[in-house]
Amino acid sequence: MSGGNWWHGPVSRIRRRRASEEPIRILLVEDDIQIGRWLEQSLTEAGFTVDRAADGDMGWYMGDTEVYDAVVLDLGLPKLSGMEILKRWRAAGRNMPVMVLTARQRWTERVEGLNAGADDYMGKPFHAAEVIARLRALIRRASGGGGQILRRGDLALDVASGEARMGEQPVPLTAQELKVLTYLMQRAGRIVPQTEIIDHVYSLDQARDSNTIEVCIGRLRKKLGRDTIRTIRGLGYRID
Ligand code: CA
Repeated sequence: MSGGNWWHGPVSRIRRRRASEEPIRILLVEDDIQIGRWLEQSLTEAGFTVDRAADGDMGWYMGDTEVYDAVVLDLGLPKLSGMEILKRWRAAGRNMPVMVLTARQRWTERVEGLNAGADDYMGKPFHAAEVIARLRALIRRASGGGGQILRRGDLALDVASGEARMGEQPVPLTAQELKVLTYLMQRAGRIVPQTEIIDHVYSLDQARDSNTIEVCIGRLRKKLGRDTIRTIRGLGYRID
């Protein structure tokens, strides 16, 4: 969502249901444009699918109607405060993990936030890497610890942490490679058409053409071995 209008992505995707095997989805509610963009980019690079809301009303609505694996919620927001949003979600039984962001360092607000149902908080300024690490911990905890590990031969993929290994060897993957690999691993043994990968893995304003997928698959093969992902001519890809 880095190009185009900031509100375009979230609104147009708002009714799309999420199957449990899709990439990890984060709702980011932050009215500061710079911090919002920077965090969205950092989270996207870490392999998350991010929807961003820039005011309290929109943030509350999205968290109320969509399914997210976790929320990053600023407290000082126009229209509806972060604290009020959190109270409403919790009162309505929305129990996704929420990390509260606060510019204010007052401990009373942190306590208030935790009492209102926040699972963690970060005081601004903060490092994106710490937000990402803590989010992953929250998501792991919420999904009952451990995290889902997908295995195929020597290849192991931790869905929550986004870590891939070949045997004992960690394999660094880009966000896009991680999403494509996760999607294929979850459908191992099945032929997955290119169009299906494009629909599920790429956001609306990313380059959605078959070349992008082919390049991505090519890079995955380089990293994981030629035979890891098979091309079934005219039909799609398959991990055996
Ligand atoms: Ca703010």
